[in-house]
Amino acid sequence: MKEIAVLGATGSIGRQTLQVVEEHPSLFSISVLAGHRNANLLRKQALKFRPKAVFITAPETYRELAPELKQAGMAVFSDWQDLQEALSTVDLVLGAISGAAGIHPTLLALEMGKTVALANKETLVAAGDLVADALQRYGGRIIPVDSEHSAIFQCLEANGKPARILLTASGGPFRHWPRERLAEVGPEDALSHPTWHMGRKITIDSATLMNKGLEVIEAVRLFGLPADAVQVLVHEESVVHSMVQWTDGTIMAQLGTADMRLPIQYALSWPDRLVNSFPTLDLAKIGTLHFAEPRWADFPALKLAYRAIEQGGIMPAVLNAANEVAVAQFLDKKLGFLAIADVAAETMAAFKADAVESLAHLSEVDQAARAKAQELCRQAGDRL
Ligand code: NAD
Ligand code: MG
Repeated sequence: MKEIAVLGATGSIGRQTLQVVEEHPSLFSISVLAGHRNANLLRKQALKFRPKAVFITAPETYRELAPELKQAGMAVFSDWQDLQEALSTVDLVLGAISGAAGIHPTLLALEMGKTVALANKETLVAAGDLVADALQRYGGRIIPVDSEHSAIFQCLEANGKPARILLTASGGPFRHWPRERLAEVGPEDALSHPTWHMGRKITIDSATLMNKGLEVIEAVRLFGLPADAVQVLVHEESVVHSMVQWTDGTIMAQLGTADMRLPIQYALSWPDRLVNSFPTLDLAKIGTLHFAEPRWADFPALKLAYRAIEQGGIMPAVLNAANEVAVAQFLDKKLGFLAIADVAAETMAAFKADAVESLAHLSEVDQAARAKAQELCRQAGDRL
């Protein structure tokens, strides 16, 4: 029986993780759940899975839920300071918090040498150097959950060092929209993704292609290839989740339905594969697969991500922070769609690519980048 902690249990990935656990009750049990604002769902999850410990990081949610869950015999905590103690018997930590908020708990788990199944790409983007350091020092492991990186991870089990990674992208809801129409995009348009149903932040990132940019950085961090060996390919059908190309030119691909429960299940069961009740792929029904070059000029966020990882140091963290601010402003209708990448680019231009010294240094950079991005958003808002 693998004991599992789910951080970000109430989100899209967290909920699907609990579905995978329910599919295999004799293999997995939940011993820690962490949620933030969704009190009703977290209550239901806790009463159903009966973890030993529950972390509730939003104060108002903590006040609402803690007495009831304590009454039901669970240990309830309000911040990450108690996480390591709660993880002592845990075999695998599923990191499904969204954004930079996932950095601290992920590092705490890695400092215990834990295996972390990581969906939270922003942690790798912003704190990749600290993650690499913790992996080396404490002997933990990361199993990627992001579908593309799970695909690459599965291809790599064939062994060897790939020459290139071919990272597939659905292209988002606007892949065929002309540039003029992109200026008028609002949150409702951007929130309807053609192939995946995900949290709000990652859905907007998919529409700007920033998600693919973050995933390029994620791939560099996970698989140790330079950024120019990671090629993005637009693939509308989202059937090929990603590919690796070996030194002789051979390409290996991982295919499946667009169902996040598959990469989640693989991260939980690795190195084994489990039978499940999820729908399987019918290639004859799909018939045709398309591949195309991204529209670089119309979706500049992708290029920014390459620039950030090539400059290195704090720059990916600056990009990530600026993007989180700009996406939140866009969702609040205070910033235009095309301005998201402008804010990220101008924020990056205001920083030098210094090395990341520590988590404290990274938090300072994160705050400074958020402040700069807020200022740029206000200026852009005034122009609206
Ligand atoms: P979501 O918005 O649906 O869920 C986010 C979760 O994080 C929630 O449980 C929320 O309570 C928690 N959370 C948010 N802010 C927090 C904070 N400040 N402190 C503590 N907890 C906080 O997001 P999602 O779509 O499930 O994505 C989660 C992560 O997985 C993201 O990093 C995303 O990029 C990545 N990812 C998601 C998908 C997908 O299909 N949804 C695919 C690949 C990767
Ligand atoms: Mg992905």
